[in-house]
Amino acid sequence: MLLQCAHCGAPLDVREGASIVKCGYCGFKTERTRLVMLAHQTPAGFAPPQVWRPPPHVAAASDVELKYAAKSASSVGCVVAGVVALALIGPAIGLFATMKTGGVFGPKLAALADKEISGSPAELSKRLGGGRLADKSLYVKLSDPWFDQVYFLWDDKDLTHPYFVGSIMNGGKTVPGGTCDRLAASLGAFSSNGWNLAGANVSCDPAGGVAVYVSKPGENEHEDEGAWKAKLALLYRLEMDAVLGRKASVTSKELREVIGAGFATADLAGVDLDADIDGAKAMLGKAMKGTVVTTDGYRYELMLAQAPLPRVAFSWDNRKGGKLSSISFSTSAWQSLDKALPKVAACLAKTLGAPEVDETDHVKKKVSYRFKGYAVYLSDSNMSLSEPKKPIWQALVKGLADCEL
Ligand SMILES: [Zn+2]
Repeated sequence: MLLQCAHCGAPLDVREGASIVKCGYCGFKTERTRLVMLAHQTPAGFAPPQVWRPPPHVAAASDVELKYAAKSASSVGCVVAGVVALALIGPAIGLFATMKTGGVFGPKLAALADKEISGSPAELSKRLGGGRLADKSLYVKLSDPWFDQVYFLWDDKDLTHPYFVGSIMNGGKTVPGGTCDRLAASLGAFSSNGWNLAGANVSCDPAGGVAVYVSKPGENEHEDEGAWKAKLALLYRLEMDAVLGRKASVTSKELREVIGAGFATADLAGVDLDADIDGAKAMLGKAMKGTVVTTDGYRYELMLAQAPLPRVAFSWDNRKGGKLSSISFSTSAWQSLDKALPKVAACLAKTLGAPEVDETDHVKKKVSYRFKGYAVYLSDSNMSLSEPKKPIWQALVKGLADCEL
């Protein structure tokens, strides 16, 4: 399919199934679903143009020609891309008629950081003291050594709050050192520069910039009305604190109640394993003292504040009266536990008894552990329980809560 880069406007040939798209011209990175579709089928013979000059209505400067980063073999591609570019510019002229241009010397980033970000594009533009405004976006040019612009995107369905806050770096600059680490300290480890939990997303790429975004309005039907707005406002505060090197102003209570992260391991002991699918949300919220998030209504996810395997998912049988069928734990970044695995196994052995050890990869010397028969299975990336029973669950929670790595 052909998608349009949200920053420089270039046509991007994206394969089906890709979740994150990085622009080969300007380096802008975002979720595939956020980008404007130019063609469901990439035209036959399409090849990316070798250079791209951003049209006047997009965020990227039009006076700089961008070179395509990946190799391209075809020469006919330029012609095809030219046609695509023309098709793009036509409808966009009307769209950006209300646009106004920000000054060369914009506000300092710190001046933006403490502002509320609710409201329509026009309202936010007024509050932030200007910026380049369109009907669904606002680009604020900064005077900042690292960041060139911060931008906000709105969705058609609800123009009362942005769902996306991104940043564009100054040429050749990377995000201030420690930014991504500070975000990971609040939220849990990142995987491939990203973090996500049921529609709340953070991307922190030292070269590409920082972005926070949430499911668009109505995209997660299992979310309470307006929850996405609160999520984005909280992620924005986390982002700004991290970028500015300030102590995070977000409390663990806010993390628990708004985005479903920062839970206490010991509270897992209060989870009622007999609750059925219809009582799951209320039961989990009460036991964990916060909001346990879901995107499908039968699988609930939360992130613990401190644990070797902080991402916990509870799955219910998706039928009337459905019971809790499994609980799984994984690393927050979907990465391997590696050297911590034997330590976690030792922690659990204290409360669950000695495990059976199975060799899973002889060459790489990988093993997995089984506790209490097959009740608890632990591998280097995951721990799972099927049809969990109370005594084993309580012992497991105690073993995890007392585990110091
Ligand atoms: Zn681009």
